[in-house]
Amino acid sequence: MTEQATAASILVVEDEPEIRRFVRATLLAERWRVREAGSVESAREALVAESPALMILDLGLPDGDGIQLVAELRAWSALPVLVLSARSEEADKVAALDAGADDYLTKPFGVRELNARVRALLRRPVATEADSAVCMGDVVVDRARRTVMRGDVPLHLTPIEYRLLLAFIAHAGRVLTHRQLLREVWGPGHGTDAQYLRVYVGHLRQKLERDPTRPRHLLTETGIGYRFQL
Ligand code: CA
Repeated sequence: MTEQATAASILVVEDEPEIRRFVRATLLAERWRVREAGSVESAREALVAESPALMILDLGLPDGDGIQLVAELRAWSALPVLVLSARSEEADKVAALDAGADDYLTKPFGVRELNARVRALLRRPVATEADSAVCMGDVVVDRARRTVMRGDVPLHLTPIEYRLLLAFIAHAGRVLTHRQLLREVWGPGHGTDAQYLRVYVGHLRQKLERDPTRPRHLLTETGIGYRFQL
């Protein structure tokens, strides 16, 4: 797959003509190639025929369910998926993320939001350079040495806090559901206890954020989970 922005194609799966036109125009203005599908069936065909670099996926489609399509796709592909959902589909949004979608936008959304999400998803994930140091403000996380420093001062993280931080770094810029984080950090048996997570994210904010009451890196996505911003 090429990394040239002009060559990458984005598959837009949306049955509402107005939204599809808006998304297409926005992407074309950024010089992406755009492929379109209005149903689950035509999306399946386009995924195989086009090998797109990203799929933008509406959840409510005339012949089926976007969540199901994400689950199917994840059996054979790590293609980034950005979900579009209406406010009335809040629960579906979380289900789509848990099924393997990478991020979401709630309708109505603007040009800048859409472009920012697309760019974040097509950026190479920080996780690929697993031994590199990561800077978040004045805090440096050195994953090779397993140290977290603010200037010359080492910050002491418990093993769980450190694992949680690594999970956030690996998915920087993307939303993570409570369930995804709990599974990744505590294991498959701990998918539902969001209170756990709140406590540990609180600890991390205390240690890493300049102002823990107004976090700039460990952001809450209300009703969904968290987003880590470098
Ligand atoms: Ca729809």
